[in-house]
Amino acid sequence: MSSLRFQALEALNAGEEKKITGYGDKKITAIFGSHVFSGRTVREYLSDEAYKSLVNSAKTGSRVDRRMADQVAAGMKAWAEQQGVTHFTHWFQPLTGTTAEKHDSFFTIKSDGSAIELFDGEALIQQEPDASSFPNGGIRATFEARGYTAWDPSSPAFIMEAGSGKTLCIPTIFIAYNGESLDYKAPLLKSIAALDKAAVDVCHFFDKNVTKVTATLGWEQEYFVIDESLANARPDLVMCGRTLLGHSPAKGQQLEDHYFGAIPERVFAFMQDYEQEAYKLGIPLRTRHNEVAPSQFECAPIFEEVNIAVDHNTLLMDVMNKVAKRHKLKVLLHEKPFAGVNGSGKHNNWSMATDTGVNLLSPGKTPRTNLMFLTFFVNTIKAVHDYADLLRGSIASANNDHRLGANEAPPAIISVYIGKFLADVLDEVELRVKEKFSEQDEVILKLDIHKQIPELLMDNTDRNRTSPFAFTGNKFEFRAVGSSANCASPMLVLNTIMAETLRSFKKDVDALTEKGEKKEIAILQVLRDYITKSKNIRFEGDNYSEEWAEEAKRRGLNNFKTTPEALDAYVSEKAKHVFFNNSIFSKRELDARHEIMLEEYVKRVQIEARILGYLATNHILPAAVNYQNVLIQNVRGLKDLGLDANSYKAQLNLVEIMSTHIREINDNVEAMIEARKKANEIADTHKRALDYCHKIKTFFDKIRYHADKLELIVDDKMWPLPKYRELLFIR
Ligand code: ADP
Ligand code: MG
Repeated sequence: MSSLRFQALEALNAGEEKKITGYGDKKITAIFGSHVFSGRTVREYLSDEAYKSLVNSAKTGSRVDRRMADQVAAGMKAWAEQQGVTHFTHWFQPLTGTTAEKHDSFFTIKSDGSAIELFDGEALIQQEPDASSFPNGGIRATFEARGYTAWDPSSPAFIMEAGSGKTLCIPTIFIAYNGESLDYKAPLLKSIAALDKAAVDVCHFFDKNVTKVTATLGWEQEYFVIDESLANARPDLVMCGRTLLGHSPAKGQQLEDHYFGAIPERVFAFMQDYEQEAYKLGIPLRTRHNEVAPSQFECAPIFEEVNIAVDHNTLLMDVMNKVAKRHKLKVLLHEKPFAGVNGSGKHNNWSMATDTGVNLLSPGKTPRTNLMFLTFFVNTIKAVHDYADLLRGSIASANNDHRLGANEAPPAIISVYIGKFLADVLDEVELRVKEKFSEQDEVILKLDIHKQIPELLMDNTDRNRTSPFAFTGNKFEFRAVGSSANCASPMLVLNTIMAETLRSFKKDVDALTEKGEKKEIAILQVLRDYITKSKNIRFEGDNYSEEWAEEAKRRGLNNFKTTPEALDAYVSEKAKHVFFNNSIFSKRELDARHEIMLEEYVKRVQIEARILGYLATNHILPAAVNYQNVLIQNVRGLKDLGLDANSYKAQLNLVEIMSTHIREINDNVEAMIEARKKANEIADTHKRALDYCHKIKTFFDKIRYHADKLELIVDDKMWPLPKYRELLFIR
């Protein structure tokens, strides 16, 4: 029987062309949001009273009372049934990194035995999923194993289609019995509220009309797409989402012929298909293109309020996985599916917007509004400076460890890039305000930076692609986020540290004005102080260079290369202070989260170690031994023919080389299993994670080295796993 590899390759050649159906004559606007309970739909299905109540609670985060909830539920149900929906689910984002659903039917039997379709306020507001199988980090003892999902009215309900089934999905938070958060959304919502409050207070220095500030997020999702059958023939891709073995192909990404090249047709059909699904769900996708590595692509939406943007990103990842199946393709969202070609990230473009329509990170049109811009700009830099380790921790994962520091993605050292023009502006403020207090009004006037912005800012700022945290004209771009990450993790940290910094800023300015200082001058003086204090975090050069690692060390910036170390930042005194102070996490929640993230790390490395051992022993070694036997037989035959030793020297040599690789693989797999046994006995999760990182993962490269060498020697027909060239170049 031929191996899965050859079955897959044969199927590929025999496969039917998937027709590009495209959008037909449909405009995007005709389908956009058709599966979302928002805007005009809400207006249509709700009474004035219920509509107002829903809009208000979406805006302010306040609760919808039970009577109103009944009305909203009835409206939602009517709309959903109109579209053929039979079931509903609370949709949430537990700390597993995926999304969770538990479908209930509208159908119910009343006490008198009659069957009806029911969906009331209670079902809308709260549910009690069987929560015992979600990570909780010790928060839930078995006696209080219940968890609740609670409706988040700020994110609209939507209809998810799977095959011919349609389900009404209610975005919810997921909390334990006593209210402790067990998901990404609950702390994200708290961070949004904290930032809103702190930012509005600071806005009032400039504009009393501002009543609300929202954080905005525009993510850029990178991913690989490969043939599904080929992917299924690789146990490592199926189980770990990345290849643990595989020699790099003769051609990688060095020709740079993929980036912005024409999108392959089969992938294009897939893209159009998932885009349509996304549009129905109200996900405002706008950009699609090839990425640097072969078979790598990117999509990005128009930015949205951060809570919605996070929901839309997790939703899209689900949709992509589902739609890919229809096209017999496999989407790889892993940060590093293939060694030797670029991995995938998810740039998080972040800013803040007021309800008066101002982007707070967009340079203004007048010197005064520029002072407002400068205030939020400098405060962001200060926040990143003060909490760099926490930001690093927020993007730490076993997957992302493969990218950070690998000279293709930003390094593990957090720094901020602002471009020369703005660096000069900050220098100017620092210098002038220090030296000539009397001329401060003049300094404000000199902030007339908008005139040069179009050319200078937009152009200059995007040039440094190596920076983990870059200012890109009207937003900061956090580039070190991993492609499979839930954006809520970095976003909630960013919102929180920004809230904290803005509050300090206001306090510092108030202290000066109370002493009689003019407001603008007080603001400039505090800004000057912050500019000086946060200088260390600014770096304009090449973040990939060796020199930067050394320079950063001299500056005292941390370079946490591994997840277990990076995660320590969550339980530092500083982190506790900022999380408690902004009511994001309680001590128990924070400890639990740290524990969950460490456990997740251990599990991932553990699974990879198991699969690698299995692949090496059950796939690679047999292939090598089989081929060795062919060679041995050949040598015997040549000997029998009476030929001299020279005629089978090469074969014998190969047999010997293969024996070395076989022995090395065998020994290393055994040693890795021993190391795992030892690590598994360690009760303390942190120590166990360190063991997995430094004593188990270290075997991966050794085993891989010898397996990849064998791949070059063994007869291609006998090799069981699809090779890199097949995975990456055949579509
Ligand atoms: P690129 O970075 O590819 O040149 P853009 O600058 O247009 O493209 O935008 C990149 C991403 O930044 C997009 O996803 C966009 O939605 C997002 N973005 C633009 N403005 C903001 C903002 N004010 N807040 C958050 N994200 C934004
Ligand atoms: Mg970008």
